[in-house]
Amino acid sequence: MTEAARTGRGIALEDLQGIRDRVRLRKPQRVTLHAWSFHQLGHFIAYKAARAGVAVVWVDPAYTSQVCSACGHVAKKNRPDQETFACTSCGFAEHADVNAARNIAARGETGWAVSHAA
Ligand SMILES: [Zn+2]
Repeated sequence: MTEAARTGRGIALEDLQGIRDRVRLRKPQRVTLHAWSFHQLGHFIAYKAARAGVAVVWVDPAYTSQVCSACGHVAKKNRPDQETFACTSCGFAEHADVNAARNIAARGETGWAVSHAA
């Protein structure tokens, strides 16, 4: 957070509003609680960011874990397992979390440009 404030960068977060409802339908209670905590964490980060004067952009969380951050190809098969991202279209490979973070960052830039266009 201090680093973001010092360098004048923003933070992009997945907008997970409503994830509890989606998760509750098919996951055990344990996962619901985890998702709830993660949602709270997002708001905590936003609160801290506002106090530090750091911009926060909420982005659409759809498919961030399945989209190739190199070519944009979307496929469930891009995720052979929990940790791995391997694009079935262009061959780009990366740790799954890193690939998802790149997608979130890219959407953050797009969202920032749109919300500050006019
Ligand atoms: Zn690709």
